[in-house]
Order: sequence, then structure tokens, then C-alpha cells
Amino acid sequence: MKPDQPGPGARSAVRLSVRGVVQGVGFRPFVYSLAQRHGIAGWVRNTSAGVEILAEGAPAAVEAFATSLPLEAPPRSRIADYERAAAEPEGAEAFAILESAVDPGAYQLVSPDIATCDDCRRELLDPGDRRNDYPFTNCTNCGPRFTIIEDLPYDRERTTMRRFPLCPACRAEYEDPADRRFHAEPNACPVCGPRVRLLRRAADGAEIELAAGGEADPAAPIRAAAELLRSGEILAVKGLGGFHLACDATDGAAVRRLKERKRRPHKPLAVMFADLDQLREHCAADELEAALLLSPEQPIVLLDWREIGPSGEVGDERGAGAASRGAASRGSAAPVDPEVATGQRYLGAMLPYTPLHILLLREAGRPLVMTSGNLAEEPIVKGWEEIARLSPIADAYLVHDREIAVRYDDSVAQVSGGRPRLIRRSRGYAPFPVALPRPLPQTLACGAELKNTFCLTRDANAFLSQHIGDLENLETLEHYEAAIAVYEHLFRLEPEVVAYDLHPEYLATKYALSLPQELKVAVQHHHAHVAARMVEHGREDPVIGVCMDGLGYGDDGVLWGGEVLVCDLLGYRRVAHLEELPLPGGAAAIARPWRTALGWSYALLGDEGFERAARALRARAAGLEGPADGRRSAGPSDEALEALRAQVDAGVNAPPTTSCGRLFDAVAALAGVRHEITYEGQAAIELEMRATGAGLAAAYPVDVAGDVGAAAPAVVRLAPLFAGVLADVEAGAAAGAVGARLHATMAALVLDLCRRAREATGLAAVALTGGVFQNRLLAGLCEAALAADGFDVLAAGLVPTNDGGVSLGQAAVAGYTVLKRRGDLD
Ligand SMILES: [Zn+2]
Ligand SMILES: [Zn+2]
Repeated sequence: MKPDQPGPGARSAVRLSVRGVVQGVGFRPFVYSLAQRHGIAGWVRNTSAGVEILAEGAPAAVEAFATSLPLEAPPRSRIADYERAAAEPEGAEAFAILESAVDPGAYQLVSPDIATCDDCRRELLDPGDRRNDYPFTNCTNCGPRFTIIEDLPYDRERTTMRRFPLCPACRAEYEDPADRRFHAEPNACPVCGPRVRLLRRAADGAEIELAAGGEADPAAPIRAAAELLRSGEILAVKGLGGFHLACDATDGAAVRRLKERKRRPHKPLAVMFADLDQLREHCAADELEAALLLSPEQPIVLLDWREIGPSGEVGDERGAGAASRGAASRGSAAPVDPEVATGQRYLGAMLPYTPLHILLLREAGRPLVMTSGNLAEEPIVKGWEEIARLSPIADAYLVHDREIAVRYDDSVAQVSGGRPRLIRRSRGYAPFPVALPRPLPQTLACGAELKNTFCLTRDANAFLSQHIGDLENLETLEHYEAAIAVYEHLFRLEPEVVAYDLHPEYLATKYALSLPQELKVAVQHHHAHVAARMVEHGREDPVIGVCMDGLGYGDDGVLWGGEVLVCDLLGYRRVAHLEELPLPGGAAAIARPWRTALGWSYALLGDEGFERAARALRARAAGLEGPADGRRSAGPSDEALEALRAQVDAGVNAPPTTSCGRLFDAVAALAGVRHEITYEGQAAIELEMRATGAGLAAAYPVDVAGDVGAAAPAVVRLAPLFAGVLADVEAGAAAGAVGARLHATMAALVLDLCRRAREATGLAAVALTGGVFQNRLLAGLCEAALAADGFDVLAAGLVPTNDGGVSLGQAAVAGYTVLKRRGDLD
């Protein structure tokens, strides 16, 4: 306070500046009502950087106001920075909300979209409320944010809501400081807001309107859409950040038609349930899982699927078919069709997170498949003009006239080890930043190829983007570049550093190298994985990094993927890895795990291994589904087997790899789980499903050659493991039993390698990362074994352990590297 103490009746003033997530979360109304409560005059306004407040009044009142503000801030806000400075009273008599101040260079955090709150849900379902059945109901505590923001500060005129002028009733709410919708920028009602329509496309491409939402009956198209869904049709449903493809999840024919049309015969589909009660008829959700399903983020959560039975009899050895599994359902409700998530014991489940979804689920009266409206690897379809792209899949379209500013998929999470872990970080989470251990130069990290995200840093904020998708074609690349532009604009970023993966063929790498920045830092894939985990845990000091992954480009040009690194955020030393084995056919082996199985058995155990693996593959081919067409497979032909042997012998198109993902694939194929796959990681995932519930198993032997502390990395020899798998298969062991042994082997190996690394380095912190650790059975075994041995385990949480986290690690490594070069790192 000022030295000259004010006498009684004197006024003091304070200027407050708040940064963090403070726009779009009801912050100004909160400040206003707090000011009323303390008898404070002055003003509050949004700025490009956050919220600014001038508070004046009796000194004690001003003090109480300034102290209460951060303590009572609204639940969805996050205060990152709170500054107060003494100010001159301006003589204000009341408290006012001023126009936003635009500062072109300043930036602030942007709220993710927030699931419908309880108050809005009540109004939506209340026949007496003016928003009854209105699918765009929202308030300052919920609704779209990131997907409607075109620029900052966050005001209606800078969102896609600007083309819907407020009606008198909505304006009154918007301007009434006592109202829940005071300055709710997307505020809308049936009179003035967006509307839904149900459309069909005629054979000539013309649009036929089946139903239109009006003032009197805003949900009419939703009722009509539910009718179509119940009759087995597939609908494209426009949501927050793009389209969903929807069908009745209990209608096997509709589910199969959707999968055929999407050309996705096996990839699991997510299911939306009307509420937790309906969900629990089909899935088990414990307290943590239920809390996550109902959180403001409302991700898809992978849950134990009741209808699949308790102990891994998913598509079991006897070839139990879909029908018998479906019959295992309990209760009166029709089961979710087993084809929704082929070969899984977990179902991706979510609850309705917008009013439109709440109404659709209520009208449908049954669970609905809700999968992103993308064609094979293309990104989620966004706009009205793109609707034609969905015509090969959808029978009808439930659309609305609110534009989508940015594409935004559903997030996917699982709960294990008592914590939520994101597999896909998107809606509800992005664009909220991950905190860096220290401020870094502005960096654009371009990410990996599959499950791509990018990451931009400013100060100590790492803006890890929402899930972009697999960067394998032009459409996704366009989406990627557009999303980078959105982030650079919203957060006023001009990155001086570009980080990229070593893999020369990644589109993200080519994009990075095409950028004009001179400062470019290449970051090894698995180092980036470990760095991301370190940042998530706020670590800068060296750790043991265990990265079990698919394929990533090594610094020696070999495709790595089973790595133990000792590293910090500047560099790494490779201390151990799985042995190099040939990938016959290169990329082709990824889609055909039988090739890896045979090639590795041959490389490890010679002609005898080859013959035994060929016999195992043949013996377990019966009952296996073939590739995408669903025909039964007889196993690989003699010609294919011999061609593969020649390929390995000649070393032609058989690049060496140390991939742990491919090891799981190979064992899955030998165990008879799957010879060919239709989505990334399928064979390994299905092996995990069978192994889960198979009980404790003995590890297979492996040999570790060399010394973790030596100049050359130790190498894990896999011949004993393959000999053990083949012997088990020959003895008639079930796939689940073989899988359980593989999991036990890897957990024991990880513990062994970490012990050796600890001995050599004295380090006790272990970062577990890489796509393979999406496997919750393996992650659980490794984390438990390491913790029991006294290690400090840095496990996965809200930063995906798969390639979706790589860009964060790239950004950190590049930023630290540049700081170091400049001598700015202590
Ligand atoms: Zn609300
Ligand atoms: Zn209105």
C-alpha cells in the first residue's frame, strides 16, 4: 500500500492483471459479481493477453476483493499469472465491463470446448424452458470454445457465432451480470441461434430436406434422424469439430455396413451412451472411469466390455463367433454388437457432450456408434461444402449452420494404475498447453508420421496440438498446415526454431525442411518420446528412458523401436536395445505380421526355425480371418514362404529393425492371433486382449549380450524367446497363454535393463514411453515391477505415450539445444 495512509472515507485502487485460461470460462461475470459483493467500483476487460481489472473503493474492500479473486475463480478457469499493482482511483461510481482491448502482439490461453453443464442439461430437458429441445444450449460454464474461435480476445464478433445476432431475450441474459449467460459468447436460443436440418442427397447430388429445426420445434430433425438410425441407416452428424458417422450400435447389419463403407473392417468404433446407467448395462466403469466420463472434457474412455465376457475369450481358440459372444450379454438391453470393436475386450465409450448429442441419444433410445467422419486415413470432415465426400458412407446428414473454425476429434483415454491416460489428446484438452520446466525459444515441432500432432512453444507453454491424424496424404497435410496456422495466429507465434524427426520420408520432416527458419534441430524419434514424458513430469535431470515402440529412425539409419536410453533434454546415450532383425518386405511386413514371424524365426533359429514357424503359421491359420475382405485364410502359400526366405538370405528389401512393436506382431502371428492386419498395432493389441486375464505366466528366456555401462549398447538376444514361443505353439498352448508369457518376458526384461542402467549410472528415474506402452497389461506389469524395485517411475498420463506425444519431446529437445548453444542454460 501507499506510504501516505488514507484516512477514513478515502479510496484506494489496485490494478490487477490475470493470465491463464480466463476467457470463455465466465471470468468477467465472476469478477463483476465479486466486485458487487465487496462494494468495489472500477472495470474489467478482456485483453489479448488475459483479463485486466481496475478496482477502487474503501481500502479494506479493495484488499479483500484482490485477495478473494484468485481463490474464488470459476471452476473452468486456470490462473497462470496474477499481478497486482497500486493505481490511482479513477473516481468510478460503479463497476463496469468494458470493451475488449486488442493488442496485436499479446497472447493468452484458449479454453478447450467444454461438455454441457448440468444447468444447461436441465433447461434442455425441461418442457417449460425456452431452450427446451434446443440443440445449441450453452452458458459461461459450458459449450464450444476452441472450435468457434477465429481470433482473440474472445468475443462473439471474433467467433463463428457472429452471424447469429442475439434476440432480445438472449441479449438481456448476455448483458445481465446476475445471469448465468452474462457474456456467454456462444449464447443462443431457438429464436436467434443455429438450427439443425436433416438432409438426404438425391442420386443427382441435389439436397433433399427431410426435416428442418424451427423456433417451434428445434429438435424435429433430431427426432427424424433418430428414426432413421433405428431403422438401420448410417447418418453423418455434424458436431463440434467435425462430423461423426453414426449408426445403431446394437444393429449388427448397420455396424457391418458402416465398417465396409469406411473400408475399416476391424478398427474399433466408439459408442455413445445416453447416460451412465445405460453405459453400465454394457460396460464396467469404476469411480475413476465414471468421473472421467462425466468430466468437463468427456473423452472416449476404453472400458471393460461386459458383453465380451470376463476372461479373454474374445474370438477364442475354438473360434467362438460373434453370435455366441453377443449372447453373453446381461440384462434386458440389446447388446452392443461385437463387430463394433472386433477382437477387443475394451469398448470405447462416451457420454453425450453437446445438447445435440443429448437429444439424439434420448430420441434413439439405444447406444449409437459415433466414429469420426473420415474416409480411411483422411482427417475428419469439417465443413458443409465437404459433405459430398461422406456420400459413399452416409445415408443421410444431420447438419447445422454454425461454422467450425478448427477440426477437433474426440479424445480417447483409459484409466490404469489409478490415473487417466490419454491415447488421443484432442477435444477438451487441446489447445491447453503442457507446462515446460522453463521458458524456451519459440519453437515449432513438426511431429511424427502416424497419430501426428505438432507442438508450438512460447515462454514456458508447450501448445501440443489436437490429434491431426496419420500424415500420409495431401488432405491430412493440408489439415496439418491449416491447424499450425490457427495456432500461430491465436497464440501470436513466430517460431524461430523448427524441430523435426530424423526420418527423411516423413511428410512432417519434409514440411519442416521446407520452412524458411534457419535454426533447425533434428530430434531422434525415441529421444523425443522420452523427452515428452520428462516434460510431462517436469523433469530436466537425466533419466533412464525405456522406449518400446513401433518403428522410428535411429541415428545410424536403422529402424529402432526397442530402446533403452540414458538421456536428458539435450541428448541421449543408447545403452541397450533389442537385437537387429530383418523386416522382410520392409513396410509390407507391418501389414503382414506373418512375414515378421517367419523372417525372425529364420534369422534367429536358421532352417529349423523357418520350418517350425511355417508349420505354426499353417496350423493356426484355420479359423483366422484373412485380410480386409474377411475371407478365411489358409496361411501363406509355399511360394510366399520361399520368396521370403530368399529375401532374408539376400538381405534385399529386408531392413534391420529393433522394433518392440514388431516383436509383439511376430509372436501374435505365431500364436495364431492374426496374420494380417488392417490398422496399426492390431495384432499386438489383440494379443494383449487374449493375454489379459490369462493369469500370471512364466517369462521366456532372453540373453543380454554386452554391458549397459560400456561404450557399445547392450543387445537383447531373442533366439531363446522364439524357441520358447515355437515350443509352446507346438505343444498346443492357447494364444492367450503365449501372450501372457511374452508380457511377462518384456516386464522382466525392462526391469533387468533398468537395474543394469541404474548400476552403471546411479540414475533411479525411469521414463516409460513409446506406442507399445499403450498396452495396459504391459505398462501395468512394468510399472509395478520397477516401483517394487525402488525406481521412480515416470508413467504416461495426459501426454500420449504413442507418437501423439513425439512433437512435445521434439520441441523440448530443440528448445534446450538452442538455449545451450546460446549459453543460456545453467
Ligand atoms: Zn451450461
Ligand atoms: Zn435468442
